[in-house]
Amino acid sequence: MSNVQLRKPVFDSRDPYRIMALQMQHGSSLAHLKGILKGNDSDMQALEDSLSCNDFTNWNTRNDVKWKNCLISKDVIDKIKQYWVVFRFIGNYRDANGNYLICDKDGKISPWYKISQGKVFLDIVSDNVVVKTEKVELSLDDAIMDIALNPSRQRAIEMTCQNRIKTYIQQVGKSQFIEVLFKCLEFYASYYLNITKGKAEDAIIGYCFANGLESEYINFKFPVDKPVDTEQFSQLYQLDGAQGEGYYCPNGHKFEGSDIQSRLRGMIQNRFVCPACGTGKRYWPVG
Ligand SMILES: [Zn+2]
Repeated sequence: MSNVQLRKPVFDSRDPYRIMALQMQHGSSLAHLKGILKGNDSDMQALEDSLSCNDFTNWNTRNDVKWKNCLISKDVIDKIKQYWVVFRFIGNYRDANGNYLICDKDGKISPWYKISQGKVFLDIVSDNVVVKTEKVELSLDDAIMDIALNPSRQRAIEMTCQNRIKTYIQQVGKSQFIEVLFKCLEFYASYYLNITKGKAEDAIIGYCFANGLESEYINFKFPVDKPVDTEQFSQLYQLDGAQGEGYYCPNGHKFEGSDIQSRLRGMIQNRFVCPACGTGKRYWPVG
């Protein structure tokens, strides 16, 4: 504790998780701490921007430093990201005739949400009755934080989104759902959510694998009559593996096959579960 005289009295914060921000100069070690700075614009694991934190109303940190909220778990972030991307894509998609998707039980055709004043407005539906309209930020990163910060609101939004999506899947079937999703991915990723196509596809993959749609996703993405994109699985390829070059599960079991394509096909046919591990856990998608 220094003896510096403070101009204002200092009180304990009401927030038990208050994070002490140290005055920093460009290039100090604080900027290099893992998990504090955003790795990129879509990095949701970092502490949030301190300018949006009520606990720092008097002395902000630099505006160009992106902070993370370390109290929100990666699982929560991932789950919100997955259903929100799918909801935003499908919910505003129109077919070749300009019609929105049928999403209500009474057959009413309308988008699942409205965009106004830079926000997404969606009706929270419970037992087929609209109970409330929620307002969510437009860009994906902001929307995730917006939804994650209030657990009861988060549950209501998740239930509404998931019900909409599941009703739609029942109406059109899983394969058609995947097809529409990828049409949306092609055209709307940056326009709708301010994210890259790759980030949007990651969210879609996560959604499919978490919601029993992995077979349809794999069949759509890796049709048997087309060669598999080796680039996509490069992270599973080891040049100097103990058993020689090839594709390995994270525990070091090699996938056999006469050539690269047949090894990749074997992985896909096993639905990315390693028979040697016997855990039933998928090793792809990773991360
Ligand atoms: Zn294995």
